[in-house]
Parts: sequence; C-alpha cells; structure tokens
Amino acid sequence: MSLDLYHKKRNFTKTVEPFGQEEKTDSALLHFVVQEHHARRLHYDFRLEMAGVLKSWTVPKIPPLKSTEKRLAIQVEDHPFDYLNFEGEIATGNYGAGTVKIWDQGTYEADKPLNQLEQGKLVFNLKGKKMKGYYTLLKTSNADQENHWLILKNKDKK
Ligand code: MN
Repeated sequence: MSLDLYHKKRNFTKTVEPFGQEEKTDSALLHFVVQEHHARRLHYDFRLEMAGVLKSWTVPKIPPLKSTEKRLAIQVEDHPFDYLNFEGEIATGNYGAGTVKIWDQGTYEADKPLNQLEQGKLVFNLKGKKMKGYYTLLKTSNADQENHWLILKNKDKK
C-alpha cells in the first residue's frame, strides 16, 4: 500500500486535507465513508478501509440506495485513514478544490476484502446511516478503462 500518489497530487502547505500516515487504528472494525464533493462537478467519493488505507472510488452520481441500482465507480488513489473524518473547503487552485462533506459513514464487513478486490469483485455489508446491507463492487472488463468499476446494491435477503 502506498500513499505516494495521494501525496504527489497535493500541496500540503496549501490544502486543508490530512497528510496522513500509512497506519491503521487499533480498532478491529473496518470503516467506510462517502464524501459529497462539490468540486468542478458534484460527485461522491466512496472509501473503504483496507490494509491501513482508504481504497477510494469516485462515483459521479448519488450512490445506490436500492437493490437493483448500480453506478459507475472510478477507482482513484488510496487515501490515508485520517481522511475518514475529513470535511472542509479545499481552496481554489488545489487538487479537488471545493467543499467536502460527509454524506454517509459507518463500518463494513467483508471476508478478506483485499483479496476480493484484487480478484475484481468485492462483496461487503455496509452499516451506515444511508447505505445499509450488502453491496458489490465489480470491476468492468473494459480493458482501456481499467479503473472502472460498478457499485451496486444487492437484492435484500429474505
Ligand atoms: Mn472527490
């Protein structure tokens, strides 16, 4: 895991975003956050704690809340664990300039999430305020868009 790309894209003397460290809290729980990011275009940043960092996807539309809904999710650079509680105004001129607000957050459960991610399909159970229940992140097979995934809400179990 590396935060090199995260650090490279930002000037930490100018952005209010956390610099972060590649360390995990001692909590046994895995966390997630969705940030509503009013950048040039409004989007939602979906982040899952994994191996000490936040694996991150940009979702151009409001994330799925009903089963059968699915959205494009573009994987972006890993973010530091400290980003979990980040809200604020990234000043003009910085990477991702605009307002960041937490849209949802909570914990999640998954069986060996990093392994699943590497296989291109991750099933996880979200325990947020808005996003609850089983979801799937599925890597698309389109070779020239290798960061493209779909996030979908699974059918509710009966
Ligand atoms: Mn963003």
